[in-house]
Amino acid sequence: MKIAAFLTAALIGLSAVAQPKIVAHRGHWRTAGSAQNSIASWHKADSVGVYGAEMDVWMNADGGLVVNHDQTFKGVNMVNAKFAESTAVILDNGENLPSLDKYLATVAATPGNTRLVLEMKSLPTLEREDIAVAKIVDALKYYRLLDRTDIIAFSINACLEFKKQLPPYVPVYYLDGDLAPKKLKALGLAGADYHYNVIYKNPEWVKQAHDLGLKVNVWTVDKIEDMKKLIDMGVDFITTNEPELLKDVLAGKK
Ligand code: MG
Repeated sequence: MKIAAFLTAALIGLSAVAQPKIVAHRGHWRTAGSAQNSIASWHKADSVGVYGAEMDVWMNADGGLVVNHDQTFKGVNMVNAKFAESTAVILDNGENLPSLDKYLATVAATPGNTRLVLEMKSLPTLEREDIAVAKIVDALKYYRLLDRTDIIAFSINACLEFKKQLPPYVPVYYLDGDLAPKKLKALGLAGADYHYNVIYKNPEWVKQAHDLGLKVNVWTVDKIEDMKKLIDMGVDFITTNEPELLKDVLAGKK
């Protein structure tokens, strides 16, 4: 009986330790005054207490770097447009679409530990991707954010180029879902950042990743039932548009 009680306590302890961390997808934007990938979305993610705020970076035709999710947004194609055209777009909360510079300056000026989860968007050529990686790395160095940033990308080329250009302590995660943990490890990546359906189809990948010293992030998890299922599966991070809901679920309030 004593042993059973001890084991139960140990298991509860383990599950508490293993709670996933919250990543606010495109910042915390489903809240008043915010918009996806806005400067406000960074501050609001920071204010609710999350591991990190995710955001998306495009490189423009003239080499400018801007923060936005969709390739074409409010009639402006982020790949073909110039920097000035992209940053002239007004977000739904009234802000101008942020440059990467402005976003990073905001992160650097925010005290605390909230991390930047920076997604570089795939570009039409590998050459352009390599240029974008170099510029993003330079910008992170300029704002002294290397130790506060996780990198994510769908392009394996971009992932490997980041690994080449960044110090080894900056984690780089792959998003596309088609590589098993063993392959990610062989490529030197920090782990998988996959759609949750990929993890549902390959549940053994969580343990395989952990056994290899890799981490597992899942996106984009907005329903309570999925949050609970993925918490039970032992993933390390959950990326969500509902960071406050996930906080409640993790706290056992939902
Ligand atoms: Mg993204």
